[in-house]
Amino acid sequence: MSVNLQTPIDYLKGVGPNRADLLRKELGIHTYQDLINLFPNRYIDRTQYYKINQLPRNNADVQVVGVITGFKEVAQKRGKRLVATFQDDTGVMELVWFRGQKWIRDRLKLQTPYVIFGKTNWFNGRFSMPHPDMELLAEHKQNLRSAMQPIYPSTEKLSNKGISNRVMSTFMQSLFRETNGEFTETLSENLRSELKLISKKEALFNVHFPKSPELLSKAQFRLKFEELFYIQLQLIIKNRVHKTKIKGFVFETVGHYFNTFYKEHLPFKLTGAQKRVIKEIRSDMGSHAQMNRLLQGDVGSGKTIVAFMSMLIALDNGFQACLMAPTEILSVQHYNGLLEICNPLNISISLLTGSTKTSERKEIHEKLENGELNILIGTHALLEDKVQFKNLGLAIIDEQHRFGVAQRSKLWHKNESPPHILIMTATPIPRTLAMSVYGDLDISIIDELPPGRKAVKTVHRFDKNRLQVFKFIRDEIKKGRQVYIVYPLIQESEKMDYKDLMDGYASIERDFPKPEYQISIVHGKMKPADKDYEMQRFIKGETNIMVATTVIEVGVNVPNASVMIIESAERFGLSQLHQLRGRVGRGAEQSYCILMTSHKLSADSKTRLETMVRTNDGFDIAEVDLRLRGPGDIMGTQQSGVLNLKIADIIKDNDILKSARFYAKKIINQDPSLGQPENQLILRTYKQLTKYKNIWNYIS
Ligand code: ADP
Ligand code: MG
Repeated sequence: MSVNLQTPIDYLKGVGPNRADLLRKELGIHTYQDLINLFPNRYIDRTQYYKINQLPRNNADVQVVGVITGFKEVAQKRGKRLVATFQDDTGVMELVWFRGQKWIRDRLKLQTPYVIFGKTNWFNGRFSMPHPDMELLAEHKQNLRSAMQPIYPSTEKLSNKGISNRVMSTFMQSLFRETNGEFTETLSENLRSELKLISKKEALFNVHFPKSPELLSKAQFRLKFEELFYIQLQLIIKNRVHKTKIKGFVFETVGHYFNTFYKEHLPFKLTGAQKRVIKEIRSDMGSHAQMNRLLQGDVGSGKTIVAFMSMLIALDNGFQACLMAPTEILSVQHYNGLLEICNPLNISISLLTGSTKTSERKEIHEKLENGELNILIGTHALLEDKVQFKNLGLAIIDEQHRFGVAQRSKLWHKNESPPHILIMTATPIPRTLAMSVYGDLDISIIDELPPGRKAVKTVHRFDKNRLQVFKFIRDEIKKGRQVYIVYPLIQESEKMDYKDLMDGYASIERDFPKPEYQISIVHGKMKPADKDYEMQRFIKGETNIMVATTVIEVGVNVPNASVMIIESAERFGLSQLHQLRGRVGRGAEQSYCILMTSHKLSADSKTRLETMVRTNDGFDIAEVDLRLRGPGDIMGTQQSGVLNLKIADIIKDNDILKSARFYAKKIINQDPSLGQPENQLILRTYKQLTKYKNIWNYIS
């Protein structure tokens, strides 16, 4: 069988069916190509050999030459461990195995020089090394190796089954021998010379067998660039194909509804950012492509009015529009707000949620289908199959992180042709991450708050300062303001959280007694109707304090509330803290956010609190959050493949990402079909990547 990179890994010398199975299951390595793309996590210096009497005691990776003089088995609490005595001309140490003992004992030779490699433990006046990497000195000398020994990703199962790092290295050596290290170039000559990138062949060789630190870093740069470049290329092509292939309704007119609203009913002057974004949306909906736009704007930046005015454009062109929000409270709030502006314009608007009565529901269904209803606001209830529109032209999703991709696509199919889609989110995503996660969407950003809004003042207070905090609350209430007090809700310990909340509530009731003070309470265990009743009391100003779990996190708008107290603030994530803080500072008054914590704080908690105190900028906060948590927890990343990068790191390789996107865009702009001769390599690689989906996971 001739070797090409799609050859199954089973055929590689030294692998065989059992090991191939392990490689597939544990590391997703199916082919030669997959193995070549298994990049080392790090490199260690293997030019140095230690004598046993010179071993460092700091648990470092060391390499020693010596012989095994004997084995013994030592009983321990559970099972036994195998211990070998290992010595050189300066001393004696122990090698220890907790697993795979029979296999090891049968295989290792006594009195034969080995090179061992691993981490040492210093205990009871003696060094030991658990599960060392072992190689016969004679073989060790023959092997292709370099000063920088790569350490490959591994799993417990792999090392238990004897596929150690050394074995992995021998696989890699076999692979280079069998293929002669001949790897096809994947980037164009133009790109390589412009960016001074080394060839693919050289890069692959040096990433696995670095000849020098300089060549290693060139190799890494080249491979990271390539990885990010093809992700960006794919996203940009997807976006482009979408725009040319998927026809959208063309909203040519900006007519009566929009103009009347704009001239006569707009309650305030739009900010520059709002105007710009509305223009972007208008231009999307006026082109022949279907809009797929993500609207990012910090809490309070005024996304709702943008959504509404976009809906008016749909209406002006004879279409219906809908707005979907993640919770009942939020959709009711949207509905009430929009009802006020719809009435003078003679626009019919309805609300559909889980608690809409059957009779009313039926009426809504009918009016939707015969076109009497212009705008529908609601929760997930909108996605039910029974909900059919006469001609849905625009679907807006608010606070998208509560919805999945599946739901987005359900909206798509409410019509014969897909409606324009606008997704609004108040959880800013760092720009570079957005590029990777939402690279196939167009992005609009409202980066300006409405004028006259005072930045929320944020402070961190320890629990022992509670009395002062309570006095502050009293003073604010005296001025007519309202206050939120929020307790954490973490799924795993819901019971405890509920108790915290109830204890907190009891103590707040003591400190803020009726009838002078009125308190609302909202938590996840309440019936929706009760929740709504309590919310409404607070919204209407009948209560001074709202005690709640994070159910109020998203979107709730009570401009008179000026204080947000967050209890056990160390238990909240940054984006959650930022969302919560966004509930205040919505009126003209100075607002405050007080982060209450105990004295025990982890380093990460401290960073989060300091960040909140330092800045109100959601994008800034998102960057810190990304650094603290990695991309794994950030919305949308699960589906995007940024977590499956083989060599690049979405955070550390930010600059490479930007440059990759820049060049991907430039090339597609100049040569959309990649038909020009100089782009043939790119086209071929791109096709390969999309064909063999398993080659690099990032092709989703
Ligand atoms: P979010 O982007 O968080 O959804 P909203 O749309 O709820 O923000 O707007 C927050 C508040 O700001 C609302 O009370 C809204 O009426 C007000 N608002 C929005 N745009 C402006 C503006 N250009 N000038 C003044 N107030 C505005
Ligand atoms: Mg909102």
